[in-house]
Amino acid sequence: MTLLPWLEEVLTAHARWEAQWGPYTPHPAGALDEGAVRSALAELEERLGDNYPYFHPRYAGQMLKPPHPVAIAGYVAAMLVNPNNHALDAGPATAAMEREVVRDLARTFGFRDHLGHLTTSGTIANLEALFVARESHPGKGIAHSVDAHYTHGRMAHLLGLAAHPVPVDGAGRIDLDAVEPLARSGAIGTVVLTAGTTGVGAVDRVDEALALKERHGLRIHVDAAYGGFFRLLAGSELPAAPWEAIGRCDSVVVDPHKHGLQPYGCGAVLFADPAVGRFYRHDSPYTYFTSFTSFTSEDPHLGEISLECSRAGAAAAALWLTLRLLPLTPGGLGAVLRPGLRAARRWADVLAACDELTLYQRPELDIVTYFPTAPAMGTIDRASAAVLRAGMASGKFYLSTLEVTAAAMGARHPGVRADAPSARVLRSVLMKPESEAYLDRLHGSVLAATRSLRP
Ligand SMILES: *Cc1c(COP(=O)(O)O)cnc(C)c1O
Repeated sequence: MTLLPWLEEVLTAHARWEAQWGPYTPHPAGALDEGAVRSALAELEERLGDNYPYFHPRYAGQMLKPPHPVAIAGYVAAMLVNPNNHALDAGPATAAMEREVVRDLARTFGFRDHLGHLTTSGTIANLEALFVARESHPGKGIAHSVDAHYTHGRMAHLLGLAAHPVPVDGAGRIDLDAVEPLARSGAIGTVVLTAGTTGVGAVDRVDEALALKERHGLRIHVDAAYGGFFRLLAGSELPAAPWEAIGRCDSVVVDPHKHGLQPYGCGAVLFADPAVGRFYRHDSPYTYFTSFTSFTSEDPHLGEISLECSRAGAAAAALWLTLRLLPLTPGGLGAVLRPGLRAARRWADVLAACDELTLYQRPELDIVTYFPTAPAMGTIDRASAAVLRAGMASGKFYLSTLEVTAAAMGARHPGVRADAPSARVLRSVLMKPESEAYLDRLHGSVLAATRSLRP
């Protein structure tokens, strides 16, 4: 796009900023030979050639796409200074930007008050949410659905929390009736809901789960690492109720490095009650430190309420700049997400009318799952894997596979014979807006490969 002129602007602005501090002599230790740099760069180019074309709509595999050019410009601008958002005096400007974007995210989810910060990833953001869950309900475990991200089981283990995986319904949403007895027995203090599962993009019924909170004093954490930004389309393209209910939950995680157009290294955790800041112990002798007795959303600096220490101020600057230009509105960032949603729905219709391929389930978000039509799990598994390989070998399309259990398949396609405990089905993440215009070609390529592989 227009990255080059923006980068020029950024480099010039940085030179202006540096110049005001007066001259100094750079040390020769870091000086490099121009020819050596050029040949190392050539080697780097060759090494980086070993990648899949994540930017191209023919790539519909995992949750991957390049950042928006403006996020790159924002990142580079701040990285040239390299502030660290672990303490106020290590990056005053980017700490302020982090506060602003976190406030905007909290508003988007409908939190009236909040405490929160950016993290390096959704995993760390969820770890913090589960840490606060443990401190809020000592001695009690958590429940999450079997389709929740694997990080919850892993992080619960790390935190010494008992994790109770509960079943999902035929749409991949958590079965709240299975959570009820765990809550009643006192085994759990927190339920983890997912707004957009990593596998199929299922959105748990957050609105219906609120009753559990009232009845049992259960804490609700919403993992919206993948789906969170679809909140912008709630009430128009997506049903309002589950998304609006997030505003009445206790914490939420969203990954700007997934659907927020950011480079990797940008997750976020938000808490509805700023008082949870008391669980974070902070007594660093090295950093600027204001003592605090009461928490409001503005009081503590970010280093005091984060489990991580060093964090790139550049990540905050990149997100801040992106959201200035593509704000958290249906017509801003929402307009970037909408085409993928439309593409997923149209592909689902095309697949539903297709003999050779079968739609696994209707997509709620922009993830489409399907499989080569066959009567039994074993054949479906082999055929899915073969189509995936054919796409990669030809370079024409890139998909991923999702392993589904016989029970999950049976709930959606009772006619499929369960001759194996699980089967891989095909999965396509249509997270680039370009997917919409490319959809017919993508479907055509997948269908052609499926046909040519028929025995
Ligand atoms: C991706 C994802 C995570 C993990 O986030 P990372 O940023 O990859 O660490 C957690 N939960 C869900 C639902 C996800 O999609």
